Amino acid sequence: MVEQGDKVLLIDKHAAHERANFDRLKAADYQPMVQELLTPVTVSPAPEELEILLEQSELLARFGFEVEEFGGSALAVRSAPDYLDAGDIEPALAELARRLRVTGSADPAGARDELLHTMACKAAIKGGWRSGAEELEEVARMVMSGEVKYCPHGRPVAIEMTKKQLEKQFRRA
Ligand SMILES: [Zn+2]
Repeated sequence: MVEQGDKVLLIDKHAAHERANFDRLKAADYQPMVQELLTPVTVSPAPEELEILLEQSELLARFGFEVEEFGGSALAVRSAPDYLDAGDIEPALAELARRLRVTGSADPAGARDELLHTMACKAAIKGGWRSGAEELEEVARMVMSGEVKYCPHGRPVAIEMTKKQLEKQFRRA
């Protein structure tokens, strides 16, 4: 919640941060910091997800995921973007596979945007989490300056209430 002039903004910090990440990743032609996993993480996606992840392994590599087939029905993940915890690798890949299935391989730019969405979301602060003051100020600044208005899915990142509207609610006006 922030005060700006004579209004109050209620900010969805996750949506706002996700949008900022998405724009930044897109502009920077996304070069993630990649962490090599000392022990590869093995994940067992559904067969159709496994297939699409292998099919799109080059695209995944550009997003920091080095994956290869492992034992016929699993994937060995050798590297992942550094902001992902080991435990988040499997859900992230599952979500990427779902999105890639929807976009299909016929639309590489669309597939890339889908991956950017997912990674922007995974790298963003979570709604229910306690965030540090610095992080919150950064997000608030982007919303207050108008730099960030909608999340990548088109939902507003903040709702505002003017002093007048508030007074009306309290029946002062
Ligand atoms: Zn999200």
